[in-house]
Formats: sequence, C-alpha cells, structure tokens
Amino acid sequence: MLPLPPIRYLAPKRLRDALELLEQGGRGRTAPDGDGAQRRGPVLPIAGGTDLVPNLKHRLLDVELLVDLTRIEEPHLRGVREVAGHLHVGALTSLAAAAADPLLRQRHPTLAGAYRQIGSPQLRNMGTVGGNLCLDTRCTYFNQTAFWRAALGHCLKRKGTTCHVVPGARGCVAACSSDGAALLTALGAEARVEGVAGDRWIPVESLLQSEGRRHLALLPGELVTELRVPAAPPGRRAAYEKLRMREAIDFPVLSVAAVADLAPGGACRSLRVVVSALSARPRVVTGLGDLVEGRPLDDAALERVAAQAYRQCHPLANMTADPAWRRAMVPVLVRRALRRAMEAR
Ligand SMILES: Cc1cc2nc3c(=O)[nH]c(=O)nc-3n(C[C@H](O)[C@H](O)[C@H](O)COP(=O)(O)OP(=O)(O)OC[C@H]3O[C@@H](n4cnc5c(N)ncnc54)[C@H](O)[C@@H]3O)c2cc1C
Ligand code: SF4
Repeated sequence: MLPLPPIRYLAPKRLRDALELLEQGGRGRTAPDGDGAQRRGPVLPIAGGTDLVPNLKHRLLDVELLVDLTRIEEPHLRGVREVAGHLHVGALTSLAAAAADPLLRQRHPTLAGAYRQIGSPQLRNMGTVGGNLCLDTRCTYFNQTAFWRAALGHCLKRKGTTCHVVPGARGCVAACSSDGAALLTALGAEARVEGVAGDRWIPVESLLQSEGRRHLALLPGELVTELRVPAAPPGRRAAYEKLRMREAIDFPVLSVAAVADLAPGGACRSLRVVVSALSARPRVVTGLGDLVEGRPLDDAALERVAAQAYRQCHPLANMTADPAWRRAMVPVLVRRALRRAMEAR
C-alpha cells in the first residue's frame, strides 16, 4: 500500500475560482522551457483522479495543492450536447456517461466505443473525458515507485539526467496512453481551453505535444473544459483498434484510429489514420491521399495504407511489450481498423 504525500485540497464550485487558484499556482513558472511548452506548476487540477492519484502515490510529481474540478457547477463542463451540428462533450463527463450517451453513440459510435474500452467499470465511473485527454504520458522506467526509480538513477522526466529508452536523448519519449486522444485526433476534434485571461479552441492534434515531460500545449492555470467533435459527413466510416496485454483492463500498447469519408459510389474522399501509444504524441500517418483518394478502399488499398503506416511508425522500448512485436502489429491493426470501418454502417 503506497500512502499519498500530504497535499492541500480545495474544491471550488465556480470555474472562475478554480482558474484563479490554478493561475496563482502557475505564477513564476510561466517561462517557456526548451521546446516552447511550459512547465506545470505545483498546483494541479484533479478530475476523476484515476491517473493522478496513482502518480502521486508513486511520487512522480511535486504537488502542493490539488484543485478538485468535480464540484464546479458550470453546465458546459458536463454532458453531451449538439451545437450547430457538432457534438460538444464537457470535460467532466465521466467515461461511463460518454460511452452510454445516446447522442454520442448515434453520431460517433467509435468514440463512445473507445471510451467503453478504457480501464474497468470503476475507472470509467470516476475517470473523465477531460482527464483522459490530459492523461500524463507513461513509460516503463517512470511509472514505478520512488524506490524503483532511485535504484535506476532516475531519468530525464524527473530528477535524472538520462533517458533509459533512448540513451543520449535530450527529450522524453514516454507514450501517450489515452484511448480518447488518437480517435479525437483522427476525427479532427478541438478542445476548449479556458484560463483567467479567456478561452480559445485548439485542435486536439495541436494540444498534444511530442515532449513527454510537457505533453500538453496548456499554459499554467489553463484547463480543458470541453471537446468539440465535428459533424460526420454522409459516407463516414470510422474504427478504433487497441492492442493491450490484458483484455479486461489495460492501457494500449499500440492503437490505431481510422476515419474514412466515402463518396456515394464508394470511392475514398479522404482517409485519416492515427497510430498512438508510440511516444508522447499520436502519429498522423502522412501521404495517404495519393494512395487512396478517388479509389475504393479495397484489399489492395488497405495493403498500401498498412505499408505506409509501418514505414512511419517505430515503437520504442518505453513499455514492457516488445517494440519489435508492436511494430509488426502496426500493419495488422491498420488493416483490422480499415476492414472494420468499411463494415460499419
Ligand atoms: C489500472 C488502470 C487502467 C487504465 N486503463 C486505461 C486505458 O485502458 N485507457 C486509457 O485511456 N486510460 C486508462 N487509465 C487512465 C485513466 O483511468 C483514464 O485515462 C481517465 O479517463 C483519466 O481521467 P481522470 O478524470 O481520472 O483524470 P485525473 O487523474 O483526474 O487527471 C489526469 C491528468 O489530467 C489533468 N487534468 C484532469 N482534468 C483536466 C482538465 N479538465 N484540464 C486540464 N488538465 C486536466 C490532471 O491534472 C492530471 O495530470 C487507466 C488507469 C488505471 C489506474
Ligand atoms: S522516455 Fe526516457 S525520460 Fe521519458 S520517462 Fe521514459 S526513461 Fe524517462
């Protein structure tokens, strides 16, 4: 049993109060660091706590104050609603509620299905859509007890000077382990980011950064308050494939999201394939337009897309699952996702 360190805890009812607490905690730490992303301060938001609490118990973070978001009463933070054809999902919506929501299941069944595959029923009841998107990056050399990490001499992500996955690397390549992130990227979703200075919408693809220590393009004090998933055009086909060690409850060791838009005759108008659980940012497979657009997504097209993904995706030794096996599974998952997408109506 790992005890929590002593931490102050506040649970404001107004979003403004939460943002002010977070902003005060971030002061003095707002200087851009390295790649321009910003370090998060010693005051952190907590939603369901299903990621943050284990990380605190493992002493992965120095936190002085937790600002609980779950008492905030502003309605846009909860539930699924339609606005001008797009679906808005409040960041505090639980994964279980999102997975069961009739509107989300009807308009974006693949996203509801991806949320249904996360963790266990208990984790889905507590865990939120916003916390899932903001999930810290994970690494087999980092998500360990303080004793374990000290025995290895720590690493770049905290207290150390080296990376055990890529020795000599100057950045951290811990993996994005959020099931929602890959699919939201493929669907072209946006996140509403609110801070004391105001709010903005940014594509999920830009919110997620490639540096595992600072994987969110958020300024200290900013929160993700809702997601906007664009309306699916007629002819939309989508699927999500997740590879994990234990089917009952586990993070992905590899995942593939595929979103295809087909013309009435069946020719492919556009295809987006996103491969995740590689490093900090889901990878959008590039160069697919020339391979599939204007043609049917038949077996030959699937092979071309699978080969392109294989060329571009290089899993690292940041998880216990063998990287060579995970790489061999990239084309397998891409084929599976595309076949499933084509079967879906
Ligand atoms: C055993 C186990 C299995 C799991 N399996 C999976 C899995 O298969 N797939 C998967 O994707 N996840 C998995 N998880 C992780 C986690 O349960 C989910 O991702 C969950 O959705 C996290 O949401 P939360 O509200 O609990 O986040 P929290 O733990 O509250 O927060 C997570 C992080 O996001 C930040 N944060 C929270 N909300 C916001 C916000 N609105 N704006 C900005 N920052 C915010 C927090 O400060 C923290 O850094 C698993 C966890 C465990 C313990
Ligand atoms: S990828 Fe390297 S720096 Fe990042 S957590 Fe793992 S060992 Fe540490």
